[in-house]
Amino acid sequence: MNKMPVVFVGHGSPMNVIEHNQFTKGWQKMAEAIPKPKAILCISAHWFLEENAISTTKSPETIHDFYGFPEELYTLQYPAKGSTDVVNITQTSLSNQLLEDSKRGLDHGAWSVLRSMYPNADIPVNQFSVNASLSPKECYDIGTQLKKLREKGILILASGNIVHNLGLINWDMKGGYSWADDFDLYIKNAIVNGIHEDVINYTEHEAATKACYYYDHFYPLLYALGACDADESVKIYNEERLMGSMSMTSYIIG
Ligand code: ZN
Repeated sequence: MNKMPVVFVGHGSPMNVIEHNQFTKGWQKMAEAIPKPKAILCISAHWFLEENAISTTKSPETIHDFYGFPEELYTLQYPAKGSTDVVNITQTSLSNQLLEDSKRGLDHGAWSVLRSMYPNADIPVNQFSVNASLSPKECYDIGTQLKKLREKGILILASGNIVHNLGLINWDMKGGYSWADDFDLYIKNAIVNGIHEDVINYTEHEAATKACYYYDHFYPLLYALGACDADESVKIYNEERLMGSMSMTSYIIG
């Protein structure tokens, strides 16, 4: 079996799901550009805790983990199953050190994107936590241990946003602030040129504090890059900043 690529998606607002906009079309194109995975391990910004954990739920519920959105969004479901194989392979890759959560469902970082990528929900999905207590390098190193999953036909789907600062969102603004553009471009150059150190050392960029005010949405990228080799091919989707301080830029690597 050919090695699966690794995907990072900028998920943005859950409203994308009901708007069926250019971003959901981009996610659909991303799914069309890669082989159909046997299963998906989703590393979402919205499962952010001080543990390395994996969901072992057989029929994960669709978690509507957002507030103040239209009623329609709360009725949406993504009835994918969980996979015991994914749990076993991931545990083995990480020396059986993962906390197992048998109740964890799918958060909107996962399902809001998966509804466009795989609308039939016929591919099993397990979630992998983003560990808030780790350094960027430590997250990257965990990613390197996930490489084996790619050889087994499992898609590593990291979901966050490279620029994500809700406090500075300007709802009337179409593009991004210049610092947001700069930061997104800095990360893009690092990914395209395989200079992963620049992503690991992202706090050295002058806009990092604003771009990643909380690092929950940035960290999934570190896991994704860790699972890639620096010389793998890179495809870019949804390369846009919007509302000033949100980047939707998404990548297929490998
Ligand atoms: Zn989010």
